[in-house]
Amino acid sequence: MSTHKFSPESLMMSHGYNPELSEGAVKCPIFQTSTFEYKSAEEGKAFFEIAYGLREKGPKEELGLIYSRINNPNLEILENRLCLWDKADDCAVFESGMSAISTVLLEFLKPGDLLVHGNPLYGGTDHFIEHFLPTIGIHTLSVHPDESYEDILDIIEASGKADKLAMIFLETPANPTNAIVDIESYKQICKHFSTDDKEVLLTIDNTYMGPLWQHPFQFGADLIVYSATKYIGGHSDLIAGAVLGNSELMPRVKTLRTFLGNMLSPNTAWLLLRSLETLKVRMTQQTENAQQIAAFLAQHPSVEKVNYLGLLKEGTEAYTIYKKQCEAPGAMISFDIKGGEKEAFKFMNSLKLFKIAVSLGSTESLVQHPITMTHAGVDPVHRERMQITDKLIRLSIGVENAKDIIWDIDQALDEI
Ligand SMILES: *Cc1c(COP(=O)(O)O)cnc(C)c1O
Repeated sequence: MSTHKFSPESLMMSHGYNPELSEGAVKCPIFQTSTFEYKSAEEGKAFFEIAYGLREKGPKEELGLIYSRINNPNLEILENRLCLWDKADDCAVFESGMSAISTVLLEFLKPGDLLVHGNPLYGGTDHFIEHFLPTIGIHTLSVHPDESYEDILDIIEASGKADKLAMIFLETPANPTNAIVDIESYKQICKHFSTDDKEVLLTIDNTYMGPLWQHPFQFGADLIVYSATKYIGGHSDLIAGAVLGNSELMPRVKTLRTFLGNMLSPNTAWLLLRSLETLKVRMTQQTENAQQIAAFLAQHPSVEKVNYLGLLKEGTEAYTIYKKQCEAPGAMISFDIKGGEKEAFKFMNSLKLFKIAVSLGSTESLVQHPITMTHAGVDPVHRERMQITDKLIRLSIGVENAKDIIWDIDQALDEI
């Protein structure tokens, strides 16, 4: 039927690429070039008029290829494909997740503005918000998953800067505890503080779930950011980031990217195009494995508590939010081992298949100890509140055979 609409996973091998423009090559080549030749001086002039906003684009006119800091086919094809999963108007890819996040914060926050952010946040994001933004006069305020909608309104009002609120930045589910918050109610908070001439934006770091298992635009998010180093790249062999949003906000993100010069390289974009072809199968297998592993951990006598979305209890608030917001529980598990750092380290050192490493979402299973590794720099008061203790261990489950992963965990727990 001519009306059939292909799913994103079916389009990852073709969308946005025209083989006729590349000698019939089935696979998109790497456009390893800094600059692009114009057919004529007039064409070059026309491209620059659009790039610099000197006139409106014609009805069918596209921005021509100018220079790889502004645009490059590998980046554009990757951006078009990433848009499909989250149903975004536009996407911009960056040389790291941190450059995606810092560019968004720098573009949409001005001196005097207030940024409200959730907790816990990725360590690098937390550092940029707490230590860099204040140096350029941006005020920051942190909120926690255990605070209600009314509590947060009160906290923002009490800051005395409610009229300066410009953005709320959240991660849900949070790393490493999988604490989840209701995106829609944060959107309500943004609306509450928006005025006719100032819209408070909601930005979600969707790295932990996405782009398959959670689609924040459906719940009112204005911008989505990713560390593409994680599930999207999926092979622990590259660093990259992405921002998605609507056609009003994204040109601003892309313009700042042009001038910061922190766009992705064509080579890494090409690797990500390859990764996207298997994103659905990888994430599906990882999630299937993780469900089995979480169930195994939950019944093990050496394990005190398992934090996994697939184990949330019906009737709890977290379960209700999870059911509304997420399409699957993902492959990130954390758990409290009986004991403390000594037992945790003994377990980690005894694993044979898992690698002790930070990062997540890749084909291989990884283990790390948040309090001494990813969250070593987080304020101890915050850590305690988020239940990041010396017994907490984080697992990122890969695509290995689930039986082998369980065998490995079982034998390592026996070593304690
Ligand atoms: C890794 C990560 C980042 C940072 O991404 P990089 O690609 O390492 O720069 C940001 N947010 C989350 C949730 C992450 O896991």
